[in-house]
This record gives sequence, C-alpha cells and structure tokens, in this order.
Amino acid sequence: MTTATKNKLYRIGNSLLSALYPDRCAICGELVNGGECVCVSCDDSFVRKPDMFYIGKTVCYSVCEYTEVNKQIIFGAKNNRDFHKLCFMASGIYELLKAYGVIDDIDAVIPVPASLKRRITRGYNHTEKISRHLSFLSGIDVIKAVRKTKETGEQKTLSRSERLVNLKGCYCMSKRNTVRNKTVLLIDDVTTTGTTLKEISELLQSEGNNVICAVFARTLYKDNKE
Ligand SMILES: [Zn+2]
Repeated sequence: MTTATKNKLYRIGNSLLSALYPDRCAICGELVNGGECVCVSCDDSFVRKPDMFYIGKTVCYSVCEYTEVNKQIIFGAKNNRDFHKLCFMASGIYELLKAYGVIDDIDAVIPVPASLKRRITRGYNHTEKISRHLSFLSGIDVIKAVRKTKETGEQKTLSRSERLVNLKGCYCMSKRNTVRNKTVLLIDDVTTTGTTLKEISELLQSEGNNVICAVFARTLYKDNKE
C-alpha cells in the first residue's frame, strides 16, 4: 500500500473517531474544532523552545523542554493512548523540521522501538503513533526498521554509564524492513542523555544511512551518580 493510500485511510479513520468522540485539547481537555490538537489559548501559551544539538556526530532537533506542562502531554501520549497529545507532539516535530528546512531531505521516518513485552502491556508504542501522524502530515513513509530485542527497564533511574551498558545489544535491524543508504528520521518522545538515540543511530548508520533525530522534549541531564 502506498503512503498516500495509507494516509487516506488514516484520515477516514480519524474522521470516524472524531464523529464518535469529540476532539479535545491536548493540554486543557476543552472541546476543540475537528482536527485541531490544542485549543487556541493553549497553542498560544505553549512554550516552544526549538533546539538543534548533537548526540555524538548525529544532529538532533527538539521542540520544547521537559517542563511540568509538557510532562503531562508526554505521559498521556505514552500511557493513555491520548490521540490529541500524540498528534500535538507529531505536529510540533513536523513544524520544527519544516522551520529548520530538513523535512524535504527525509526518505523515511523510523520510530524508536519498544520491546515486545512493553508493546503487549501498553497495547501500542507511542513513538509509532507519533511517527504515524508525522507521516500523515508530511507524506513520508514510516518504516519500523529497528527492533528492540531485550527488555531494559526504565533508563531514567540509571547514570549515564549505566544507561550505555543497559542498552548495549538491545536493538537490531528488522529483517523484514531493512533500510539502507537513505536519509532517515529517528523519532523519540524525550531525550535526556541521548544514549537510546545514539545506540539506534549507530545501528542505522552501519547500514549506510544518514540519520537525523527528532524528539518532542529535551531534558537536561543532571548526573549525580558519576
Ligand atoms: Zn486548551
């Protein structure tokens, strides 16, 4: 199925959902016009802090900082399958990449994968949902090119060096969806130390891909353990 057909079906599915469940603002929960992710006042007050930084030699873009408000958006997208929060994060990333002029260079969108166990317990992988909506906005195909083969637990309680060890050998290229020699966009919700993005970027780079990373929020890492 082509990306255009997939996006047409996605649009129809979303219209049906909007008819059944009215669209609500991703931040305050008030009713919004069909198709909107946030209400006008939340959109105005949302603090965007577009940033471009490097994880090793790989460029990464972020929409905002990890604040109390933004934490709620990410939590709902990650744990409650909140469609409007997922869309809000995707459209933030889309607008950011357009503003930086890199969106047209991208051949494929690749979500940071979750382990099988995580996908079963949660019922979905939020980075796939964000990537899906990003594909709808941009017309760029989503390819689940990377698999997570080991359950690692939460990274956030670990020090930087523990995170690196924790992630070693956890990811592999999908045999079915191999991507080679392309410019790919790797998507995650949040980055702190960048270890997850670094690990997966290196895997994709080993297949000849040029990797660009993008996240919704960036949190500055305070390492008390090292
Ligand atoms: Zn609102």
